[in-house]
Order: sequence, then structure tokens, then C-alpha cells
Amino acid sequence: MVPRFFVLKDEYRGVHDAEFGRIDDDDNVGEAARCPRCGDFISMLPWLPPYRVTLDLYGQELGDFMRGVGNSLVSERFAEAFRSEGLRRLQGFHPVEVRRVRRQRRGPKPSIVPGYFLVTPVFGSAAVDEARSCIRRSSPITCNWCRETGVDSIHGVVLEQGSWNGDDIFTARGLPGSIVVSKRFADFVARHGFTNMKLTPTEEYTWDPLRRGPPPSTPGGQA
Ligand SMILES: [Zn+2]
Repeated sequence: MVPRFFVLKDEYRGVHDAEFGRIDDDDNVGEAARCPRCGDFISMLPWLPPYRVTLDLYGQELGDFMRGVGNSLVSERFAEAFRSEGLRRLQGFHPVEVRRVRRQRRGPKPSIVPGYFLVTPVFGSAAVDEARSCIRRSSPITCNWCRETGVDSIHGVVLEQGSWNGDDIFTARGLPGSIVVSKRFADFVARHGFTNMKLTPTEEYTWDPLRRGPPPSTPGGQA
């Protein structure tokens, strides 16, 4: 059977809608990772400790997941279950110190502030099947390993058969900025009822903030 994959996002405008902001000075970052083949950057500048954050709560309560750029936060409950059930690959699990919770809409203070951990999905556990996906790229792919390009729109993604190494959560080669998860991960989220995690099958995933449409070379796409 062909494995199924999902794009993981947070529930925008949901009950657990929240964002985190870093409290640090600008030098508090390490070296970005580079592609072993072409040398291009394949990660953001990694954030170094101390990990101190403010939380902005837009929903009602704080949930199990907060997605950031490069890094995300997961709750203690999520972290424990992820480890004890042996799901594969998230880097970090650094405890973060929550300095302040700001409520951005009217309502009572959140009843619980969970312990949070900073995690980073690994890069490269699978590659995008370019011919079967609808991704509008701002420049052509020049390196077949990292496949780093700017992405203008996404109208469905298929991963290359045989390219997946079995990781349950990762960033795919050719799909920068999106977190992809396995069917096993999706089942894990449903079984535990983890909050603020929205899963869309990769084939149905669309992202097109500027309404550029699908790439011109695909059925339905316009040049
Ligand atoms: Zn490369």
C-alpha cells in the first residue's frame, strides 16, 4: 500500500489559537545547515539557549502545539507520548521558559499553561514527486538533493515513492516551510486528542496566499 502523508498546521482561529515569540538578543543563533551536495542553506539559523518565550493567546486555552518559523512548541503531554510510543524524529525537546502569556481577545486567563518544549522537524526524510505535485516555484530546482526553491503556491503534493525513510514528522525535500507527517503520526494525534494540530492529506493541501494558482505546466494551471 502507498503510504499516506499529511501537512501539519495549527488551527488558525481555533479554540487553541496561539503564537509564541522569542525573547532573546539577535546573536543568539547558531549556524544554518547546508545541503551536502550544493552547499545551499537548508535550514533557518538555529535558535540557541536560553529558550525564553512570550505566548499570545488568540483562542480560549493553550493547546498542545504552536507552530513557529523553523521551530515549534509542543506540550509536555505531547512530548512524553511521542517518546514513549517511539515515534520517529523531532530534534530538540528543549524545555522553554514561558515568561508571559498575553491574551489577545477578551476572556478569562487560560486555566492551564502547559510546560512546553522546543522541537525542530528533521529535513530530508522524503522528497516531493515534482511531476505528480502542483507546486508553483519562483525558480527552477537546480539541486536534486535539497531541491531548495522559493514556493509561490501549493495545490497538492505527492511524495516520491521509495524516497521516504520512515520518519513520522519531517520537512520534505522540495517543500520548504511545511511540516509533513506520517499516517502513524496522524493516528497518534487522533488517539490522544492533541489540540491545535490540523492535518490535511498532502494531496489536498493548498497554500496560495497571493492567488497565483497552480503552476502553468499542470492540468488546470495557466501560464
Ligand atoms: Zn542542494
